[in-house]
Amino acid sequence: MRIFKFGGASVKDSESVRNIPKILSGYRGEKLVVIISAMGKTTNALEAITRAAYDNDAKAEQLFQNLYDYHMQIAEELFPDEKHEIFAQLESLFDDLRSWMEVLAGKERELTYDMYYDQMVSVGELLSTRIVNNHLQEEGIGNTWLDAREMIITDNTYRDALIDWQRTHDKIMEKTGNAWKDSDIIVSQGFIGHDGEYSTTLGREGSDFSAAIFANVLDAEEVVVWKDVPGYLNADPAYFSDTIKLDRISYTESIELAFFGAKIIHPKTIRPLKNKSIPLLVKSFLEPEADGSIIHEDMSSDSLMPSCIIKQGQVLISISSRDFSFIAETHLHKIFGMFAGHRCRINLMQNSAISFSVCVDDISRLPGLISELQKEFSVKYNDGLQLITIRHYDKETINKLTVGKDILLEQRSRVTVQMVVK
Ligand code: ASP
Ligand code: MG
Repeated sequence: MRIFKFGGASVKDSESVRNIPKILSGYRGEKLVVIISAMGKTTNALEAITRAAYDNDAKAEQLFQNLYDYHMQIAEELFPDEKHEIFAQLESLFDDLRSWMEVLAGKERELTYDMYYDQMVSVGELLSTRIVNNHLQEEGIGNTWLDAREMIITDNTYRDALIDWQRTHDKIMEKTGNAWKDSDIIVSQGFIGHDGEYSTTLGREGSDFSAAIFANVLDAEEVVVWKDVPGYLNADPAYFSDTIKLDRISYTESIELAFFGAKIIHPKTIRPLKNKSIPLLVKSFLEPEADGSIIHEDMSSDSLMPSCIIKQGQVLISISSRDFSFIAETHLHKIFGMFAGHRCRINLMQNSAISFSVCVDDISRLPGLISELQKEFSVKYNDGLQLITIRHYDKETINKLTVGKDILLEQRSRVTVQMVVK
């Protein structure tokens, strides 16, 4: 039994969706759970709709219409029969989205922003899986659509929900067990779960993690993440033209790479796989026969070639005491408490006698954190920066990546160098 995961790029238009049955037909007779993300940039669009509706911004209407048209166009291309049941399913999901928008814009709003966010943003995966489920059916590939919210049971940390493993285990076993009586293939959503009362999401790019949860619970043979790149590359092809594929990567190395911001796999994905020694394959949906990359236990075959990770939109905050006292443990304890309280993850930190510097993502919770810090400390910050991380660095790679840039902060260990640059 295998778990397949298709990300947003692999379902971004009707042509990509048509690719899925081609890939699946190579696995006839095998049990599969196919986890799918929202189509293309749908999650970003839903985020924008949520924001606009919350702010009572008239833009919300147009954004909603664009997302509706985008999905309807894909559906029309895939399902020539305008009476096909997919259209009613999509309409009903858009109706749900519309109702949430009305609640958000209305006076009776009583939930937190993050809670509304999850109710609205989770619709993206419901739309995409309905389209794929029906398309596979049309292509003669019998499959059962399951609602991940009935299986992935979480707490109520909206936008970053924690898994209740015991209940998730029981639900996955029950629902997939029943579904497999009817068909070998199960189609379900990545990224979304449920806390018993409301929908939740597992954090951006969380579909990989969903796939790993299913794999862990079901003791899958392997997880295959189907991508628009040939495998796990040593750098993001959006920034580098000379990327090299890493053929074999250990769990440990991939956790490090993901932690530093390598986009290919969500950092939470590895642990559930490692605990059961389930390999993860990254393969190209354009070349399904090609080898791709494998992430597994074995550390002996880790490549030592430099891997480069660039994080944009970084802010460097430097915090110092007002009375010129040392930034020591008691201060740090307080500072870390504030970062945790605002759920602001530190990407890099460094301290000197009287100041403590951190590099963080420019997230919407940052201004709140900064004003809390300012109550006790003197705070300076610099935004619009990049964080460059090089694993297995060499001089040549450092020079290449920093030419013409101002290095504001640098940290080196034996294997990794990180630099905050302007
Ligand atoms: N659709 C979600 C996102 O874009 C989850 C995922 O793609 O993994 O963040
Ligand atoms: Mg995605």
